[in-house]
Amino acid sequence: MRTMSAFAVALCLLGSLGAAASRTTLDIYVVDVEGGNATLFVTPSGESVLIDSGNANGAVRDAGRIMDAARDAGLTQIDHVITTHWHADHFGGLAELAKGIPIKEFIDHGPNVQPAAATDQFLQTTYPRLYASAKHTVAKPGDRIALKEVDWRIVSSAGEILKSPLPGAGGKNAECANFKPGDNNAEDPMSVASFITFGRFRTVHLGDLTRNMEFKLMCPAAMLPTVDLFLGMHHGQESSNSPVMDHALRPRAAIMNDGTRKGGEPFTMLSIHTSPGFEDLWQMHFSLLSGQEYTTPGMFIANGTDEAPAAMPIAPMAAPAPGAQGVPPAPVHNGKAYWIKASAERDGSFTVTNQRNGFSKTYAAR
Ligand SMILES: [Zn+2]
Ligand SMILES: [Zn+2]
Repeated sequence: MRTMSAFAVALCLLGSLGAAASRTTLDIYVVDVEGGNATLFVTPSGESVLIDSGNANGAVRDAGRIMDAARDAGLTQIDHVITTHWHADHFGGLAELAKGIPIKEFIDHGPNVQPAAATDQFLQTTYPRLYASAKHTVAKPGDRIALKEVDWRIVSSAGEILKSPLPGAGGKNAECANFKPGDNNAEDPMSVASFITFGRFRTVHLGDLTRNMEFKLMCPAAMLPTVDLFLGMHHGQESSNSPVMDHALRPRAAIMNDGTRKGGEPFTMLSIHTSPGFEDLWQMHFSLLSGQEYTTPGMFIANGTDEAPAAMPIAPMAAPAPGAQGVPPAPVHNGKAYWIKASAERDGSFTVTNQRNGFSKTYAAR
């Protein structure tokens, strides 16, 4: 900054003011953090909320990719960061990110319930340093994040859910009779989940809430109303995405934060593609767990791998068991990464754009 000319500083200021002044949409950047999560929301007046900060084993890379999106949006600070839960693919880039941009509020579900040395170390030493000069909030279901044009409700946190349905919800959910329970670890069900309304546009990000939490939120009556756009989907993993959630939300489109070999299993693909009225699934990556049989058309997929295989196998691959020995590593993607951006209008219409190929689709207001 010291070496910058006054002219360059003025240009930067104009640039950021320009982005803020001309925006009329709620912009959502789904940033590629290699099978983790980082989703940046920017309101028309330039307020910002980031849900998660990418991977610990790739913190510099992932914080850099989040910074690229923040710069594109003209942000000079991030107003609120929600860390959905204490898994390294969700909080891993936070310390690195905080070096690059001021963060004003840190929101989480409270203490880690799945002991892990690196995580507990982060929570004891690094995290308190990050929020020492900011605000720290433990989210409770029903809480609001104060934003000018956007209604942001916390619908689940630390395993607890809303006490009463959100406006427009409360209907009986026919899928509850077919529910197949499932959980996978202690922290995923603790996720801070958000329901976001901008005019007539509605979207939801559930962190990594598992099937049992989906049931708790949506059965026997749905606590959440229908949405236009479904975000995250727990990386598209089959431990979530039961029809009690994916069908009851009635999304028109979804953006899945999957990895090259994480998420997109046949269960998820069948569940989302049979959701009534569903149009398009957008994905962060091609996933080997889909194979050609279940994958989304490539134009809806933002990222490949550093060394693209000659062809995607037709059959889906079974996910290696956690901690399995002798499994070759997943295909690597450390090179140029692309986001998927959604821009929502107050009337409920929205446009989704794949930064890799420029492919874009507008969904008219319902
Ligand atoms: Zn990637
Ligand atoms: Zn995760």
